[in-house]
Amino acid sequence: MNLLHEIAFNSMRFPQRVAATNTTESMTYRQLWSASDLLATRLDELLGTQDLTPIVVYGHKSPMMLVCFLACAKSGRAYVPTDVSVPDQRVLNIIDQVGPRIVLSTVAWEGGKAALVSQAPAPHLVGRDELDTLLDLALRGGQVPTYPVQRQVSGDDLFYLIFTSGSTGEPKGVMVTADCVDAFYPWALSLATAQSQQTSPFTFLNQAPFSFDLSVYELTMSLASGGTLFCLTADHLAHMRQLFDALARSSVDVWVSTPSFATMCLADRSFDATLLPRLRTFIFCGESLPNQTAAKLLVRFPAARVVNSYGPTESTVAVSAVEITAEMAAATQPLPVGYPRPGTRIDILERGASTSTAVSSTGLVGEVLITGDTVAKGYWGRDDLTAEVFSAAGIDVRKAPEVADGAMCHDTERSGLIPALAAATASVRSYRTGDRGWFDESGMLHYLGRIDSQVKMDGYRIELCEIQSQLERLSYVRAACVVPVMRNGIVSRLAAAIELDGDIALLGDTELAAKLHVKEDLRLVLPHYMVPRTIAFIDEMPMTPNGKADCKRLSARFK
Ligand code: AMP
Repeated sequence: MNLLHEIAFNSMRFPQRVAATNTTESMTYRQLWSASDLLATRLDELLGTQDLTPIVVYGHKSPMMLVCFLACAKSGRAYVPTDVSVPDQRVLNIIDQVGPRIVLSTVAWEGGKAALVSQAPAPHLVGRDELDTLLDLALRGGQVPTYPVQRQVSGDDLFYLIFTSGSTGEPKGVMVTADCVDAFYPWALSLATAQSQQTSPFTFLNQAPFSFDLSVYELTMSLASGGTLFCLTADHLAHMRQLFDALARSSVDVWVSTPSFATMCLADRSFDATLLPRLRTFIFCGESLPNQTAAKLLVRFPAARVVNSYGPTESTVAVSAVEITAEMAAATQPLPVGYPRPGTRIDILERGASTSTAVSSTGLVGEVLITGDTVAKGYWGRDDLTAEVFSAAGIDVRKAPEVADGAMCHDTERSGLIPALAAATASVRSYRTGDRGWFDESGMLHYLGRIDSQVKMDGYRIELCEIQSQLERLSYVRAACVVPVMRNGIVSRLAAAIELDGDIALLGDTELAAKLHVKEDLRLVLPHYMVPRTIAFIDEMPMTPNGKADCKRLSARFK
């Protein structure tokens, strides 16, 4: 079985079951399947069957987005999810990089429509009206011709391209294959369903926008198991009242979010098992899980398990996980990020080591190297960046169990430790994560931060160099440096020091107006979370002896 087969099967077994809802729109499995068949057919009409260029899907969390994703996958094309929260210029940059012949927009998108026309060649925009017509056909329940299974993405074909922050100043597209997704979701489901006696299908909470790979967790788990995806939209998230009303109606069994989101919910005393009586599993990924958050969740949701998982987009969502017990939450700080999943081998690279000299010795601190069947193909159109961090030959995980000291995985079914390599498949790549970590004696991975200037804030992955590079593209900026401001061990905000090229009066009447001007300019090209909250104009950028902006000195200024 692969993911698409599972969804096909579920649409036959449970045609009337709700596959996805965002409280204003819902869709059953049958509707999802029929509408995506119709859209896949439409894509072939527009493109022919030979053109398999990825398709950009623009919108927000609605069942229609899933129709688009499925239609792409069914017709042999990768989808590129982009969210409405991303500024148009950044979406257009992504479109420019991918060069799609078609953009599917599930929302009215005036800015995009106008901008796409000026692209050469201009992609065809299939808008919400046209998608609604297809959906109407599917909803009316008429006979929808079945789309041929042979066209589906499979094996090493790209399943999706997710763009993450890029240190070169442009977002970079991670190429995740069908094999990666098919290797990932059964393990993810085993995390969600371990120890559960429940026989009815689960409802999975979706917090992250579909343009973040965290959402692939619940999206694949839910559709593969015939469950319901409960999407929290930007409207729900804008006000605590709306959010808690939506949660109260959600009946979620499995919660997937960034730790930051759960921490925010915990600030409200009503966030407990009375609000979410069916909740049995919290799955976290994407940033450090604070001990206090885990401890509070275990008290307020006594029947729920808390799972901390770890992984970058480049290795398909998550590659290690562990259940956090109350004892761990009290005694181990920071919390561990778990045992490698079957099919993944994790090694630690000492400073200066190459991927071929990676080891997994207990206690050794170094860069985390991930090898296995969920490691992506590389970065779209960026062979240079791909070569820096991905290697095709890597370590052959099928041959190396005897050196896999620390690379153990937790087999939830057998509830014991088994060699991480046993289930590895033939197509194996390695990825140097830039994360620092070490293995303890039980074979569990611990995360110790980054070796570079990438940071996580509220679960968002941010390359500080990307912000710096966008600042330095502004005509009035001579030099810029962006630093994270830490509080209680986590990034609480970003601060930018800027040396202007000219008089500050050109930007505004007051210093405050000038700072707002800079932020406005950044908002046009960067998502909101990448726009530094603090801006300081400085006379001269302090430099290190080797001629780089001295970020350490600047950090002290923003304490
Ligand atoms: P993303 O590609 O957005 O999922 O970000 C991946 C990065 O997030 C990783 O390389 C880590 O730096 C960080 N990360 C992911 N999971 C965890 C975790 N459980 N604890 C700490 N950091 C994490």
